[in-house]
Amino acid sequence: MIEFDGVVKRFGDHVVLRELDFTVSPGEFVTLIGPSGSGKTTILRLLMTLERVNEGRIHVGGECLTHMPKGDAMVPANEKHLRRMRKRIGMVFQQFNLFPNMTVLQNVTEAPIRALGLSKEEAEGRAAELLEMVGLTEKRTARPSQLSGGQQQRVAIARALAMRPDVLLLDEVTSALDPELVAGVLKVLKEIASTTDITFLCVTHEMQFARDVSDRVMMFDQGQVIEDAIPEKLFTAPEHERTRAFLHAVL
Ligand code: ADP
Repeated sequence: MIEFDGVVKRFGDHVVLRELDFTVSPGEFVTLIGPSGSGKTTILRLLMTLERVNEGRIHVGGECLTHMPKGDAMVPANEKHLRRMRKRIGMVFQQFNLFPNMTVLQNVTEAPIRALGLSKEEAEGRAAELLEMVGLTEKRTARPSQLSGGQQQRVAIARALAMRPDVLLLDEVTSALDPELVAGVLKVLKEIASTTDITFLCVTHEMQFARDVSDRVMMFDQGQVIEDAIPEKLFTAPEHERTRAFLHAVL
């Protein structure tokens, strides 16, 4: 569902990703861990097309994200190609980024109506199911400012799912939350991961969550995957010294 093939990303002289290769299978939940500055967020931003690769290719759902066919050649993707591909990829951010002047319901129906062309009734039907899934049916007419951080993040999750993405990217979705609100958000994500066939790529500092929910964990350092294993293995018997040192520092 996701394939990075020789991806290089530089900011000026600073090489952030160096010939990065990895794949994520359909329905898999993969978590990226590693020290701050190792390139994890850059991977998500490339998938969201907020950044462009310098070299290499990224495929999503069997289709090239970064390039498109032109005649017999592949050329860098244009805005139209990117816009179409973006509909397949959802993202939930650390800062929930809800529309403050809209109700919870409008936040969840806005993109499906505008970007997918759903009728208001269809979008509201879809939103009702999702708000129930995240436990916020009774908040449908509230504004984001009337909700706790945990509730806002659950609205953001419902909003991303309303687009029925193939892939959902999660970027430190609990870092901005008060500790007592973290569990509710993680529980909702775990439920979604186990009941849908969405493919997840997650960046988190919540090692317990990574261990609970991931099919696979990739340890990153300096723009490279240095260890890629099932959570039981990576957290209990890591092979690399750098993974051991990182886990020792964060656990
Ligand atoms: P992580 O998510 O693992 O903490 P990031 O992907 O955010 O790491 O960042 C990797 C490196 O790329 C860092 O050194 C960061 O300073 C640099 N970087 C990220 N975005 C930019 C940018 N827009 N301009 C310049 N440098 C950037």
